[in-house]
Amino acid sequence: MARVYNFSAGPAVLPEEVLKEAAEEMLDYRGTGMSVMEMSHRSKAYDEIIKTAEADLRELMNIPDNYKVLFLQGGASQQFAMIPMNLMKNGVADYIVTGQWAKKAYAEACKYGKANKIASSEDQTFSYIPDCQDLPISEDADYVYICENNTIYGTKFKTLPNTKGKTLVADVSSCFLSEPVDVEKYGVIYGGVQKNIGPAGVVIVIIREDLIPDEVDENVPTMLQYKIHADAQSLYNTPPAYGIYICGKVFQWIKKMGGLAEMKKRNEEKAKILYGFLDSSKLFRGTVRNEDRSLMNVPFVTGNEELDAKFVKEAKEAGFENLKGHRSVGGMRASIYNAMPKEGVEKLVAFMKEFEANNA
Ligand SMILES: *Cc1c(COP(=O)(O)O)cnc(C)c1O
Repeated sequence: MARVYNFSAGPAVLPEEVLKEAAEEMLDYRGTGMSVMEMSHRSKAYDEIIKTAEADLRELMNIPDNYKVLFLQGGASQQFAMIPMNLMKNGVADYIVTGQWAKKAYAEACKYGKANKIASSEDQTFSYIPDCQDLPISEDADYVYICENNTIYGTKFKTLPNTKGKTLVADVSSCFLSEPVDVEKYGVIYGGVQKNIGPAGVVIVIIREDLIPDEVDENVPTMLQYKIHADAQSLYNTPPAYGIYICGKVFQWIKKMGGLAEMKKRNEEKAKILYGFLDSSKLFRGTVRNEDRSLMNVPFVTGNEELDAKFVKEAKEAGFENLKGHRSVGGMRASIYNAMPKEGVEKLVAFMKEFEANNA
């Protein structure tokens, strides 16, 4: 068995330990005689799986009791619609557009109400985070929306925007559980899990209870109402059961590793190795303004498209997979999520040094 170093932006690398454990339990989950894929979501065994997953996530993120944790389907993209459908009471929301995902969320909100783009970094290919300390927040805004870590461009909000008292809603798909967070600063935190937590098909929504409306427009489909899922504790219909089970294993793995403070420490170490090299290299350079650099997604270029393609090809042959940048940016991107070992980053940098020497 040969595992590669997988730098994919998502679906992405998972801890090897988790995969092995899942493999061991594949045919017979703890004496039930069946796989988790085959069991009723109303069974005792599954009830324990989903309850334990929620409890572990609450512990890891220190989620206060007045927040609900929902395990839903439809990916992060479905939340682009669910958020305005459920949260727009005045029909107004402010969006900070720092990349393609925020742009899509904004476009979706425009279908539903009055969405205002109050800041953007599109003028410089989303290579920075705009100053968000004194933005023209709308007086009647139901919420202010951000994409906290921009997977494609490799930028991250290092300080949250000043929402002037309005509810903050954040897409954290690609920085979920990468460092400690203060949940109380947000009204809604959500993310697709396939970047840093588990298999595609699950989206986790952490939402303050008072934001869940008792009633929404009668045309909002049942499946798109937060209240339906919150009241049923994510078991209104069949949830993405196997995906949630794997997420639960990743939560346990993070707990065992030392929690989110330890994740942050490791992620900073890994990012420092890669950014440090990029800053000293004569061939490669990062594409993001230094102070806005993501710990998770690291885009870089040589400045020569042919050389970029050569690098991606040779890296693949050497066992470093999925380093090609997003089609909208070009170049390369190394996603170095929680499950990417430090050794993977060290070896990548050694390979980059060698490539630089050979192509000077
Ligand atoms: C990947 C990603 C999405 C889209 O996720 P889907 O689950 O494919 O809908 C949204 N936001 C961010 C920040 C992402 O990285």
